[in-house]
Amino acid sequence: NRSVALKRYVTGFPSEDDMELVTAAVTLAVPPGSAAVLVKNLYLSCDPYMRRRMTKHLVPSYIPDFVLSEAIPTFGVSKVVESGHPDFKAGDLVWGMIKCEEYTLVTKPQLIYKINHPEFPLSYYTGVLGMPGITAYAGFFDVSKPKKGEYVFVSAASGAVGQLVGQLAKITGCYVVGSAGSDEKVNLLKTKFGFDDAFNYKKEQDVNATLKRCFPEGIDIYFENVGGAMLDAVLLNMRMHGRVTVCGLISQYNLEQHEGVHNLFCVLTKRIRMEGFTSREYFGTYHKIEEEMAGYLKEGKITCVEDVAEGIENVPKALVGLFYGRNVGKQLVAVARE
Ligand code: NDP
Repeated sequence: NRSVALKRYVTGFPSEDDMELVTAAVTLAVPPGSAAVLVKNLYLSCDPYMRRRMTKHLVPSYIPDFVLSEAIPTFGVSKVVESGHPDFKAGDLVWGMIKCEEYTLVTKPQLIYKINHPEFPLSYYTGVLGMPGITAYAGFFDVSKPKKGEYVFVSAASGAVGQLVGQLAKITGCYVVGSAGSDEKVNLLKTKFGFDDAFNYKKEQDVNATLKRCFPEGIDIYFENVGGAMLDAVLLNMRMHGRVTVCGLISQYNLEQHEGVHNLFCVLTKRIRMEGFTSREYFGTYHKIEEEMAGYLKEGKITCVEDVAEGIENVPKALVGLFYGRNVGKQLVAVARE
């Protein structure tokens, strides 16, 4: 069973060398009488939140640090090989919390879900039909509370979550602009995902001026994925009673000291509601979200772009690439096809 483990705790930007491929000559099996489920992993998800778990925290974080030399936990798509749990049987396709390895003995079967829509590519369960889909749907509809005609701005807009938020905003009848870190990604936003406008933030000298050009009447909803200088520029361009939905702050994840926010006074003067959330709170409503997203996919109202790396040995490269913007769309790793 080959797996990817963290070799040492990380400070600053992670590197591929912080992780290692480990081969264990063990044959996993469900222990007699246990409710565990043995799965063969097909697709592994690479997600920015995993960076937090690569650091040793003195004060416990909202999610535990990775354990050195043990397979890295992640979301993924798998096939059941053997089950001690009445809800699963050999051959079932599932997604949920597994590990970066070829086979996982899932000891908490409450963290895996049966795949109800195998008519879509199974890899979609690392994206639109999995955790990023829950994040985009819940973050946009439940936290941002959009109304038709509102002005929406999304950062890291071509990524796993951003591409979905932009399309949900269009479905709602909003005007939506996205930012991304390359011309290729900007082109995707405009041509594939139907954003009304988009810009490459790395090429803009003055993001405040760019936002003023894109939103002459200001922004009602900012779906925040990056933080830092972008958040400061957005605050200057928010409308009265605007909402800032804090989904992620990827520009800060590799900094020892997070940057300050300079324009917080705008929150007061413009009566902005700034609210963070995590997808965790919404896993209880997962099946409703899965059905909604599957419906949008069937109707052609949502499309997705994935970046698929091949082979478990490429997990470190794919994971590190998120922090350099190397992924175009949802980053995942194909470990096996069936
Ligand atoms: P993406 O698919 O968007 O991949 C990450 C992208 O972030 C990169 O491709 C890059 O895009 C961008 N990025 C990297 N470094 C920087 C930087 N310094 N400044 C600006 N942009 C940067 O990832 P996800 O869609 O999975 O995640 C997006 C955000 O949502 C993250 O902040 C993540 O932590 C958060 N998240 C939160 C969840 C929650 O429960 N609250 C759940 C899932 C995700 P580009 O080339 O455009 O710069």
